[in-house]
Amino acid sequence: MESGLNPSQQKITIRQPDDWHVHLRDGSLLEAVVAQTARVFHRAVVMPNLQPPITSVESAIAYRENILAALPKGCLFTPLMTVYLTDVISPNVLEYGHSKGVFFAAKLYPANSTTNSFDGVTDIRHIEPLLDTMERIGLPLLIHGEVTDSKVDIFDREAIFIETILKPLLSRHPALRVVLEHITTEEAVQFVETSTSNLAATITPHHLHINRNAMFAGGLRSDFYCLPVAKRERHRIALRKAATSGKPCFFIGTDSAPHLRSSKESSCGCAGIFNAPIALESYAEVFDQEGALDRLEAFASEYGPAFYGLPRNTNSVTLVRVPQVVPSYFTVKNVDNSIEKLLPFHAGETLSWSVLVE
Ligand SMILES: [Zn+2]
Repeated sequence: MESGLNPSQQKITIRQPDDWHVHLRDGSLLEAVVAQTARVFHRAVVMPNLQPPITSVESAIAYRENILAALPKGCLFTPLMTVYLTDVISPNVLEYGHSKGVFFAAKLYPANSTTNSFDGVTDIRHIEPLLDTMERIGLPLLIHGEVTDSKVDIFDREAIFIETILKPLLSRHPALRVVLEHITTEEAVQFVETSTSNLAATITPHHLHINRNAMFAGGLRSDFYCLPVAKRERHRIALRKAATSGKPCFFIGTDSAPHLRSSKESSCGCAGIFNAPIALESYAEVFDQEGALDRLEAFASEYGPAFYGLPRNTNSVTLVRVPQVVPSYFTVKNVDNSIEKLLPFHAGETLSWSVLVE
């Protein structure tokens, strides 16, 4: 047993959490995964990297409708839509989408940094007018923080992004609200915790559980391949400290990113980890191991709404210390009725916590 753990704590009830970073995909994959997120999260910031990406108010509205239509009946879940920044999108589109209450935030993918990012921003200088507009109207910027220069080692891409892109961007736009998504390094932790309150970071469950060895344990393991890639153990430890620190600049964002088995098991396997079915339980495991279960609620349900200026949820969710074996796979039914597998994070493992289904 790890120190600080209270063995008598068998149950924890927290305000209902939100997921501040999720990929719900579209089509049959959307139908297979959305209920998993809506199972425990009341709101979720939905990433716009579909093919084609969400770059207009109309496509964001259509996507939101598809998400709502794919939910189980009676399910109360609010998707918060994002717009995908490109070199050519007009500031007027951002302003219009924000004024209509459609765009909750805008997502910056450096071109070719991750899944479906080829339409992303090729040079940060190209989007200065967009950033000026966002700063003025209060539209938050969500960042996939990695440089894409092939000469930069993949394990250094986040740290180099912070130095060369993020720092100058924040000093050019001091009033812009920015979230550095799915941070993976000690450098990111230090940078965010010493920055102004306009900068926050999300942390995924998988980056709290695995280091980069997971991708190479006993063979090439694409199930643990995500972007940004997991880093060395010292970074994982820094992320665990940050998530459980009680600092409001760090909050939940699962980056649950489902890919069909056939897209993972290929000579060019896709990046992404599908954690939605057990995301909250996976975080609970970490907070428990760190002796910080009393800080789970703030991380999961309070710091996100505070950063975004939204009300806290009023419902609650209860976790019980009842072990659960995570399914080895879920299934997705394609339009042609063929069935494909979808592997969740922790597949086949036993987690100590379960969400109590009322
Ligand atoms: Zn993501």
